[in-house]
Formats: sequence, structure tokens, C-alpha cells
Amino acid sequence: MPTVALVSLGCAKNLIDSEIMIGHLHKAGVTLTPHPELADAVIINTCSFIDTAKKESIDAVFEVIEQRMEDPTRKRQKLIVAGCLPQRFSKELPKLLPEVDAFVGLDEIVRIPEILSDVLELKDGNAAERDYVSRVSKYVPDYDTPRYRLTPRHMAYIKIAEGCNHPCSFCIIPQIRGGHRSRTLASVVREAQILIQEGVREINLISQDTTYFGMDRWETGRAKPNSPVDSSRGESIADLLRALNGLEGDFWVRLLYTHPAHWSDELIQTIAACDKVVKYVDIPLQHISDPMLSRMRRETDRAHIEGLLSRMRKGIPGLAIRTAFIVGFPGETDDDFNQLLSFVESSRFERMGVFQYSREEGTNAYRLDSQVHPMRRKSRWNRTMALQRKINEEISTAQIGKTIRVIVDSPGKARSWMDAPEVDGIVHVDPAMTVGSFVDVVIRDARGYDLIADGAIV
Ligand code: SF4
Repeated sequence: MPTVALVSLGCAKNLIDSEIMIGHLHKAGVTLTPHPELADAVIINTCSFIDTAKKESIDAVFEVIEQRMEDPTRKRQKLIVAGCLPQRFSKELPKLLPEVDAFVGLDEIVRIPEILSDVLELKDGNAAERDYVSRVSKYVPDYDTPRYRLTPRHMAYIKIAEGCNHPCSFCIIPQIRGGHRSRTLASVVREAQILIQEGVREINLISQDTTYFGMDRWETGRAKPNSPVDSSRGESIADLLRALNGLEGDFWVRLLYTHPAHWSDELIQTIAACDKVVKYVDIPLQHISDPMLSRMRRETDRAHIEGLLSRMRKGIPGLAIRTAFIVGFPGETDDDFNQLLSFVESSRFERMGVFQYSREEGTNAYRLDSQVHPMRRKSRWNRTMALQRKINEEISTAQIGKTIRVIVDSPGKARSWMDAPEVDGIVHVDPAMTVGSFVDVVIRDARGYDLIADGAIV
């Protein structure tokens, strides 16, 4: 049986694809190794969302190519490039990277054992004939899809849908991952049940837009952006949260990647009422100035966003909001940027990410006039980050003396309900606390984005 090493890049959605590939390889009897130098084949699961992600993916590919050239024991090693990069550049890559033995698209990840055998039988790699990429991605996993989790034993992601129906002008995702297709509520609940039985204590629901869950399957047509979501028309994210909340076990559920256009008052009430759903919401807003939101084709405007945030804060006591913004989008004037800064100042988001606009070929925004100079983008990014750092320090300091519930991720390191894995801060705790357990800790200090609880050694 061959031995394979897999390098997973990109976001949590890509991580699940890597887990699915490993699950299928494992089922086929393939041995997995964390040491690429010992593998018969290396699979790199790539990301190509923005420039920095593309660069990271290409760098990882070249690193393996170089290592293979330098190490005589790796001369016969095969290299497979999978995921978003070959899906996006299926025509160009085989010509640009002849050293790669196979390109595997998003729908072909479940065929990885068969592709691996093809590649291992290949004498002289010819990438042009080793192209496993469907033109349009349609695949969506199910609860019984073979999957080998790469996250800690107590934490898991569940991909509740794949693809995206939104028209955001800066984003290439719908072209890479296809239109939105939801799983059924029963399929997601079954997967959650299995994970809880395996010892998972934190379930993170993900997709490109989790608030759109179910709507693509409504027979009466999809909900219009910003209209009240009538979930009597079919399964919705509120139904899913209620169903998950009703499962037996000691666990919490976190809702990531929501979109402001499809929130409903029912969803707000559901989060407030479900004790297993953490009072944490991830809602990337991207901007607040109306001209920017319109150029970004965000299907929302400032009035809608402000009204929604106020209803969310009122309806879900103690809510922690994570958001993300893009600075330096084409046409962003000083006035637009200043509106964003004062919105950040007054909204006091508990968690926030800021990204510099990345001009992506194939998107609508690529052709927009008034591109903002990279130096100005950088300076706007610095100013927004500095402001949020100050707000974060104040929010963290306000936690001192409070007792908060955390989940222990590794010896001495935990996360509160306010912290999603990978993107938010951590809580330093007593290293003797059991990994994977929920513990109530008293916060004694704050440092940057992190908190320090009684008993922590820092
Ligand atoms: S909601 Fe917008 S930004 Fe998010 S994946 Fe869809 S198109 Fe891209």
C-alpha cells in the first residue's frame, strides 16, 4: 500500500475537504504520514481565494518540487495538487506546472484513491493527461461521507452547505465552488449526533453563507435579500439550530460565516433561546458606507446593517459579534473610509478582522475604476487595526474578575464562547485542566487579544 502525505492550506471549509480526502484514502488502506520526505505521493490541498492564499499555495507546490529535485530518494515521488487552485485555474496550471502529476478539482476529492493509483502507475508525469477537474463544482458531502478529522478530538467543523449564490463583486468563490447547495437538516443532525458520540464538545457550523441554509431547496423560490425570512417555506438555519440544541450531550454549537442579507428575527430569537448555541455570531460586513456596499454588491445597505446589529444586540443578551471588513476597495474615498472607522469605533465589535482589498481576475471588481494605491490600502489597514486593538484591549480588560466558561484545547490553553477556533484569541488556564473539558474559570488578567485565568502559568 502506498504512503501519502497531505498538506492542507486555506480555510476551515478546505480543511473539511482535506479530511474527506484522508477519509477516502484511509478507507482504501493507504498509509498516511506527516513526513512528506517518506511519502510515495504528496497531496497539497490548495486555496486560491485571494493573492496571499494563491502565493502560499504556489510556494508549497514549489517547495515539494525543489525537495524532490534535491533528494535522490524522492525522485519517484508523485505530487498531486488539489482544491481551489486547480478548480480556478484548470486550463493554465497543467501548462505552468509540468512537474505536478495530477490536478484534482473540488468534486473529484472523493475519487482520490483511484486518482492516486493512476498517478503511481504513471511513469513519466504528463500533467495534461492527468487533469481531474470538473468544470462546475456540484459536490456536497453527507453525514456518511468517509472523513478523518484533523481537528482536536473535542472540536469539529460541519459543512452544512457548499457554494454561494451571492454576487459580491470582489469575490471569486461562487465561480470556484459553484452555486449554493444545502445539505438536508436530517443529514447535518445525524453528523452532529455521530460527532457528539465520538466525544466532540464544540461543533462549528460552516459554509459560504450559513444563514442561507435550506433556502436553495425551497420550492417557492429563494428568499429575497433583506426580506423577512419565512422559514415556514422550508428548512432554515433556525430550524437546524433548534434541532441541534435538542440533541443529548454536553456540547456547544457555534454559527460561523453568516451573511447580513438573510438574517431573520426568528434566527435572533432562536440563538437567544437555545442554551447549547453560543452567544457568538460571525457576520462579515465588509464595509458600511453605502457607495462601497453598492459597489461591492453586498445586497445590504447601512440602514439595514445598523438595524440588524441593534436587533441582534437587543435580542441576544451578552452577544459577542465577530465581523470582517475590506479596506482599499476600488473607489473607497477618504469619506467612505472615515465612515468605516467611526462605525468600528461606535459598534465595538468583540472580534474583528480587516483585509486589504485583493484585486482578483475574473471578479466584477477587477474591472472597476479608481483602484486604491497599495500604500493607501496598507495605511488604512494599519489605522483600522490600531483602532480595533484599542477596543479589544478595553473589551478584554472588562473581563477581569469575571467567571467565564471555556473549553480546554491543549494543556494550559482554552477558548471561551467568545473565541472561535483559529481566528480568535485564547484563554490561558491552569495546565492541569483536562483537555476537551468545559471549565468555569476566573479571569485575572488580559494581554493583547488573550485572557489569563487563575492558575495559568504565563
Ligand atoms: S457571500 Fe460574498 S464574499 Fe462570501 S463567499 Fe459568497 S460571494 Fe464570496
